[in-house]
Amino acid sequence: MRVIFHIDLNAYFASAAVCIEPELAGKPLVITRDNPRSIITTASYQARALGIHSAMPLFQAKKICPDIIVREPDFKLYNELSNQFFSIVASYSPILAVGSIDECYVDVTQLFKDKKYTDPYELAQKIQQEVYEKLHLECSIGISHNKFLAKMASDLKKPMGITILTKKNIKTVMWPLDISSFYGIGKKSQEVLKSNNINTIQDLANYHNYDLLTSIFMNRAFIIYRQANGIDTQPVVGKEKLRSVGNSTTLDKVSNDHTYLEDTLSSLASHVSARAKKRELISNSISITIKYKNGKTITRQTIISRFTNDFEDIISTAKMLFDNNYNGMLVRLLGVSLNNTIEIKNYNQQLSLFDHSELVTKKDDVDNLIEILNQNSNSVKVIKASQLEKKKKDFIIKD
Ligand SMILES: [Mg+2]
Repeated sequence: MRVIFHIDLNAYFASAAVCIEPELAGKPLVITRDNPRSIITTASYQARALGIHSAMPLFQAKKICPDIIVREPDFKLYNELSNQFFSIVASYSPILAVGSIDECYVDVTQLFKDKKYTDPYELAQKIQQEVYEKLHLECSIGISHNKFLAKMASDLKKPMGITILTKKNIKTVMWPLDISSFYGIGKKSQEVLKSNNINTIQDLANYHNYDLLTSIFMNRAFIIYRQANGIDTQPVVGKEKLRSVGNSTTLDKVSNDHTYLEDTLSSLASHVSARAKKRELISNSISITIKYKNGKTITRQTIISRFTNDFEDIISTAKMLFDNNYNGMLVRLLGVSLNNTIEIKNYNQQLSLFDHSELVTKKDDVDNLIEILNQNSNSVKVIKASQLEKKKKDFIIKD
């Protein structure tokens, strides 16, 4: 049986703003351009409690709460924080697939096979705590034996929720839900389904409705029907495997000479950088290993604010780790490693904001994002590819 987590950062853009301005914690806050016509991208939970939500125009939110705090989107920050978030999750298992800027799937089956953990719930708590402690971001985690149920589960309890969804409890937990909460069915299809009296996920799972589903979704009907019944065999595959590029060396003679040890680190960092460059791999996670003469070995890892394979970045981080952790004893072996690397081309594709518009699946999120991009630019007009045909006329007139 597989164990898959879907991990979703809660109220991400609002929480990211709190990360850099902690005094905003606990306050009603929205992320949007400060312009009455702007559409809210994210509302903090305190704003949501007042009835303010994403996709609402700012002027309407100000009617509800005149003192609402407004912060403009900061995509550089969002990218940096989400890279750190993915790195933390990948440190548990490298089988990770980025879902969008604030969510990922991770297959943690092996950790249970290896008996590193025995309880998926406890592992989820540990990851949740680590993300919170290191990044001050809240996340909710869905646990299941497949991607679809894990994704559905992470939505059920927010913020900081952990929900287990399995074949055993889908009938009581998932089936009663309205089809609007079924991941992957858009608003248009929901309307068609409802006009055909398919209202709940249970209705989607009902074999008697299968012909009707086929007439609406064509060959996607089979997938939807199976997912509604808790069956999904898709593997968690990232666009690339996360690999480490590391070098270690046993010293010619054991030493506690700081200069000699630092020179050795430099030489290792230069090898790591050259190998990563050759393979076009980058990472924001760097570690060192120190093995002492007495056999004691420590590995210390840190996450830096950007993805790199640059020698200077690697050596400065390795030295910082060394200075903070070296105990002055005789050293037998040193190692430097760039962990959970990704391919440069995939980094650009997967994590750049622009691509995010392709990756997010909720229609509203895409619309919001496009709105922001358009507000940002006077010369380029962004629309969804799916709307290209429909909008062609406006498009030409605007040009
Ligand atoms: Mg989220």
